[in-house]
Amino acid sequence: MKPASFVYHRPTDLGDALAALAEVGHDGKVLAGGQSLVPVLTMRLAAPGHLVDINRLAELRHVTVTGDAVRVGALARHTDLERDEPAYAVLPLLRRATAHVAHRTIRNRGTTVGSLVHADPAAELPAVLAVLAGEVELVRAGGGRRLVPAGEFFLGPLESAVRPGELAVSATFPVPPAGTGSAWLELSRRRGDYALVGVGVLVTLDAEQRVTRVRAGYVSVGPTPIVLDLTDAVAGQRYDEAAWAAAGALAATLVHPEEDIHATAAYRRHLVAVLTSRAAQRAGADAAGTGAGTEGAE
Ligand SMILES: Cc1cc2nc3c(=O)[nH]c(=O)nc-3n(C[C@H](O)[C@H](O)[C@H](O)COP(=O)(O)OP(=O)(O)OC[C@H]3O[C@@H](n4cnc5c(N)ncnc54)[C@H](O)[C@@H]3O)c2cc1C
Repeated sequence: MKPASFVYHRPTDLGDALAALAEVGHDGKVLAGGQSLVPVLTMRLAAPGHLVDINRLAELRHVTVTGDAVRVGALARHTDLERDEPAYAVLPLLRRATAHVAHRTIRNRGTTVGSLVHADPAAELPAVLAVLAGEVELVRAGGGRRLVPAGEFFLGPLESAVRPGELAVSATFPVPPAGTGSAWLELSRRRGDYALVGVGVLVTLDAEQRVTRVRAGYVSVGPTPIVLDLTDAVAGQRYDEAAWAAAGALAATLVHPEEDIHATAAYRRHLVAVLTSRAAQRAGADAAGTGAGTEGAE
């Protein structure tokens, strides 16, 4: 199939892009990497009258490390973020999760911010933004600006808080407290497929290497990214003796996955338990400096 016809806008600066979005309102869509939008258009699941292509807005292609966060511009490709060494140094979970997004060719074109706006519950970066309690910056013509926290950004499957006329210009991923390690694990049928279940875990240790905090963010277990606080399961235990299976068991009692053509609800719950305990163990070792949190895809 081919897309329905549309008017193509190709602004060269942010002001023109916002003006075009304001003019076309409900009938317009932003075109970023096109890795999700183009399939949607060709299958005619959407038929916007206008596409506003932001690929010439070079000012939006950046990954910036500030003192306490990594800010990702709207045109930063998945690969830009994955390969950014300063971002990896302060927040390795970004690379650990991004390496699982689709295949290299898709990561070369698709954008991190586009993935957040697309809000696929099976996508990695929305769960990372959620578990880190990050936020998305939205702007519109006339100077309107909103900072939307992750907890309010993902409204449902393929539904985010972006309103007609708005452009998401950046996303901010806060650096977790000192003593925190991370890991990302997921299971998919084939390498590069969307995960049946995926989890990013953050474990924080105190000076005696005892667990003070465990947070986990999940993909494919609910309509939006799910974030759980699992601290109670292992609080006060040394990272190398902690009963990590208890964290997985707790997580399994707190999620409510649904069955679909890919997996039963019971299987997804089982994966939550297994992947959580393994990822938490790795994140604990990462926090202690004795193990990596899973670089690259497995
Ligand atoms: C075969 C295949 C496998 C994939 N597997 C995975 C996977 O395993 N994990 C994963 O996370 N993703 C996966 N993806 C999706 C990929 O990550 C996309 O890059 C991402 O979902 C969307 O980014 P994009 O830049 O391509 O956005 P686009 O496709 O250009 O846009 C997506 C949506 O977001 C809107 N939008 C984009 N940017 C903005 C903005 N700055 N402001 C406002 N609205 C905006 C668009 O209007 C559109 O509605 C896969 C894609 C394909 C084709």
